[in-house]
Amino acid sequence: MTDKTDLNRIYDVIIVGGGPAGYTAGLYASRAGLASLLFAGASTVSQITVTDLIENYPGIPDGINGFELMERFQRQAVKFGLEVVAADATTLESRPYEGKALWMVRADNLSYQARAVIMATGAYWRKLGVPGEEEFAGRGVSYCATCDGPFYRNREVVVVGGGNTAVQEAIFLTHFAARVTMVHRRNRFRATGILSQRALANPKIETVWNSVVEEIGGDSGVEWVRIKDLRDGATRLLPASGIFIFVGLLPQTDLVAGLAARKEDGAIIVDREMRASAPGLFACGDCIDKSLRQVITACGDGATAAYAAQLYVEEYKGEAY
Ligand SMILES: Cc1cc2nc3c(=O)[nH]c(=O)nc-3n(C[C@H](O)[C@H](O)[C@H](O)COP(=O)(O)OP(=O)(O)OC[C@H]3O[C@@H](n4cnc5c(N)ncnc54)[C@H](O)[C@@H]3O)c2cc1C
Repeated sequence: MTDKTDLNRIYDVIIVGGGPAGYTAGLYASRAGLASLLFAGASTVSQITVTDLIENYPGIPDGINGFELMERFQRQAVKFGLEVVAADATTLESRPYEGKALWMVRADNLSYQARAVIMATGAYWRKLGVPGEEEFAGRGVSYCATCDGPFYRNREVVVVGGGNTAVQEAIFLTHFAARVTMVHRRNRFRATGILSQRALANPKIETVWNSVVEEIGGDSGVEWVRIKDLRDGATRLLPASGIFIFVGLLPQTDLVAGLAARKEDGAIIVDREMRASAPGLFACGDCIDKSLRQVITACGDGATAAYAAQLYVEEYKGEAY
């Protein structure tokens, strides 16, 4: 972390978000000589820091723990001069300044200024919205198998969802749980073929198709999950000490509400250069409208956003080549 943040300074670029997208943008921006500041977030963490093993990031054939990869990203960016503040950006606005836009970012009740802003705020898990979900959060309801899986050694758990993450996390949970029951509203997984095959071949994983969770219940912690078969409406209780919910991500983009165009789910709409709809505003990673939300794509988006921001700032300062 830095202690040299200058509040009177106009940064070339402020990056909001300390995940793979943000740190890659920070690496490219600072290495290109831009005065760059990154808000890493205080109340939330990057999704990869809760990922036990990442085995699909190129160049690391044996896989790597997500937290360790994150530390490497940060170290590499800071080496080139990126300043990092461990705070949440709370507001974002742009004001006219010398015929252009000057961005103001507020964090920890202080204002910071920049010619360009790169949003890299990621996404968070969608809730089921059923009775018991809030009540048992942290007492059997989880959105992170890596964090909570070891608590369920030799116990029965339910996983909700059928996408890549649900299937991947269900397989991970079989290292601990006695049985993993996957409840999915359709009659097959949406996950990639190889992942689906692995799950279906795993003797500890059972599948309940065409079904949804209606209620989560128990005494001091989760003891059962009530599911409904969508074909005939029949309900039944599955005994379970834990339920892991992976039914989609919500992009964290409230900061740009009213400033930039977004999809209905909140994802920021960008062009191929990662430019959002406001001048000087760029976005990258899981917070943008995209099809594949992974570390590798977040990094690629971050590099593109930083390069586009660099061209924008050079033009802004009359230094375009
Ligand atoms: C359980 C799990 C397993 C996964 N496994 C894999 C895998 O094996 N391989 C793979 O490639 N991908 C995997 N992913 C997906 C991958 O983690 C994400 O695609 C990637 O982390 C997205 O990077 P990002 O930088 O866009 O967002 P994130 O990593 O989510 O980072 C967003 C950052 O923004 C910060 N932030 C948010 N709001 C603010 C604010 N207002 N002010 C300041 N900071 C803010 C957050 O604190 C966080 O640091 C997995 C994800 C999960 C949850």
